[in-house]
Amino acid sequence: MTPLQRISFVAFWFFIVTSAWGAKDYGLKPLQIATDTYVLLGKNEHFNFRNGGNIVNTGFIVTDEGVIVIDSGPSRLYGEQLRAAIGRITKRPILKLFNTHLHPDHILGNQAFEEFPIAALATTIDGIREQGELFNDSMYRLAGAWMAGTRVVVPTETVQPGSLEIGGHRLQLIEMKGHSHADLMILDQTTGVLFAADMVFHGRTPTTPHADLGQWLDALDTLSKLDFKLLVPGHGSVVEGTRSIEQTRDYLRWLRSYLNEAAEQGMTMAEVLQPDAPPSITGLAVFKEEYQRSVTHLYPAIEAKALRLGRVEQE
Ligand SMILES: [Zn+2]
Repeated sequence: MTPLQRISFVAFWFFIVTSAWGAKDYGLKPLQIATDTYVLLGKNEHFNFRNGGNIVNTGFIVTDEGVIVIDSGPSRLYGEQLRAAIGRITKRPILKLFNTHLHPDHILGNQAFEEFPIAALATTIDGIREQGELFNDSMYRLAGAWMAGTRVVVPTETVQPGSLEIGGHRLQLIEMKGHSHADLMILDQTTGVLFAADMVFHGRTPTTPHADLGQWLDALDTLSKLDFKLLVPGHGSVVEGTRSIEQTRDYLRWLRSYLNEAAEQGMTMAEVLQPDAPPSITGLAVFKEEYQRSVTHLYPAIEAKALRLGRVEQE
């Protein structure tokens, strides 16, 4: 090896090692959206090596007794940086972390809150116990070194839906279904802020890996009647009123009817992947990737049902 080759060899490995293990910073900045209430907004993107999985909204409420945290983000590192960000806003203790549902971007920061009660709906706890490791593995593939040292921490406390008075805030813990098998929303009746979790997406294509579209659409009807001022979606910017609920509903209705019609017309999956959709649908962030994922999860069953029905009609 010539000296020049030696220098390039060392420089190459120095670059690889520092970019893989160098200090990663999610740059979390709590945004105050109401009295005592903060959110940390994720990017409207798919998971990648640049965003480190920070595509999700987390939040916290600083009550008189202490802090209520809502979701812990996609990695141990995110959880630690979320905790540090909370510490820059308040010196009050953390009382409890809620996990809204089982998906990895909402729960893999739990490790940083391990000494506090971590609460979730019973079905969510079962889901994390059964599928958490699988999610963790796939997040390593999608976000790389940001995931270093992340392990699954299963919630320790089962949420009973209903009212919770805590440090001057009256919280309603609401159980929904549709985005996943159990979706927890938190409505702070004191401030009028609704943490809607992934039941609502804003400006971003909804994800459907565990979705039941019919249940989700029914739940959105209930949700739009709730009394709130400001809605924090699971993904996308914070918004007043019901606009983001309508947007989520429009997308899910379009998805359901497009896939059903495609199946009735006998379209192949390859054909379905080139959809004819209005700009209000295709203009949502991450449309291409999420739509493709949805077709892969949902179309085989819809196609099989259409074939069965077709056969019954012919008999
Ligand atoms: Zn989700």
